[in-house]
Amino acid sequence: METILVTGGAGFIGSHLCEKLLSEGNQVICLDNFFTGSRKNIEHLIDNKNLEIIRHDIIEPIILEVDKIYNLACPASPVHYQFDPVKTVKTNVIGVTNMLGLANRTKARILQASTSEVYGDPSVHPQKEEYWGNVNPIGIRSCYDEGKRVAETLMFDYHRQNNVDIRVIRIFNTYGPRMAENDGRVVSNFIIQALKGEDITIYGDGSQTRSFCYVDDLVRGMIALMNTENFIGPVNVGNDGEYTILELAKMIIELSNSNSKIVFKPLPSDDPCKRRPDLTLAKEKLNYQPSIHIKDGLIKTIKYFENKI
Ligand code: NAD
Ligand code: UDP
Repeated sequence: METILVTGGAGFIGSHLCEKLLSEGNQVICLDNFFTGSRKNIEHLIDNKNLEIIRHDIIEPIILEVDKIYNLACPASPVHYQFDPVKTVKTNVIGVTNMLGLANRTKARILQASTSEVYGDPSVHPQKEEYWGNVNPIGIRSCYDEGKRVAETLMFDYHRQNNVDIRVIRIFNTYGPRMAENDGRVVSNFIIQALKGEDITIYGDGSQTRSFCYVDDLVRGMIALMNTENFIGPVNVGNDGEYTILELAKMIIELSNSNSKIVFKPLPSDDPCKRRPDLTLAKEKLNYQPSIHIKDGLIKTIKYFENKI
């Protein structure tokens, strides 16, 4: 039986990952500082004797004996990562260094949750892994975008310098049950607004695009990368269906039978105009293909929020 550390395990994606790894019979250590994650997300797993929960901040070193590390610890939504931008950078530099140090000492394989944000506001569309990105180093998104870029750099330097067994996944916008209600991301915002009959707040004119991946697909891709030999990434994982934010708003209004009206608000600075993963590499190396259509995923997510609010 393997012991697998999931940092950020009480968060949205982390809680689904812990659940899946436990269901496969692994020993899981869920480590979290509970900044954006919550015990509620893992409450249903607490009776599982193979789960251990540790309250810890990855910017402090920790000594554990593990076989694999999934490093997800980092606030992911603009509202949360901009709450304390210096801390966001520290999490991605000091925190990632600590986790790489742990991987080096224990000879554990480590997977870093990177992001499509490393491509910034992309001038190449759709985004392929070899594209180096278009990122503002001094803007309000930089603590996250540049933080995640240096996290990738650290991964590859530890690999070259210390032979650490790394995997890097570039996650595109992911949604599903257990997204935090207050994190300001577009899917949770629109669903909550639609269910409450409040105005749907589109930032800008709604012509910017995103590609939305249901969390189960993402977790499958993540585990596939961790368990693949002779391929370290970076690799895009997501769903390549591309929608404008206006289309998303209309879809959510329709699927939740809402009377909400759409209103337009100012676009935050550095908000990427378009985003869609090129999934060729994931298909080739991981046999990965997203399987959940946006409408089905949204219906499941709307159900979840109906019970929450
Ligand atoms: P989330 O905010 O729900 O989860 C992050 C978790 O990390 C939370 O439980 C939080 O409490 C914990 N955390 C934050 N800083 C920490 C620290 N210093 N020490 C210990 N724990 C800490 O976000 P999520 O959507 O589940 O994202 C998980 C990972 O996936 C993040 O690394 C994020 O950057 C990455 N990612 C997510 C998306 C997405 O669309 N959800 C897209 C790209 C990348
Ligand atoms: N967005 C919006 N209304 C909201 C929240 C977000 O129009 O209430 C827009 C946001 O400006 C961006 C897109 O939706 O263009 C996706 O935003 P999110 O924060 O979910 O993810 P990211 O920008 O990090 O991809």
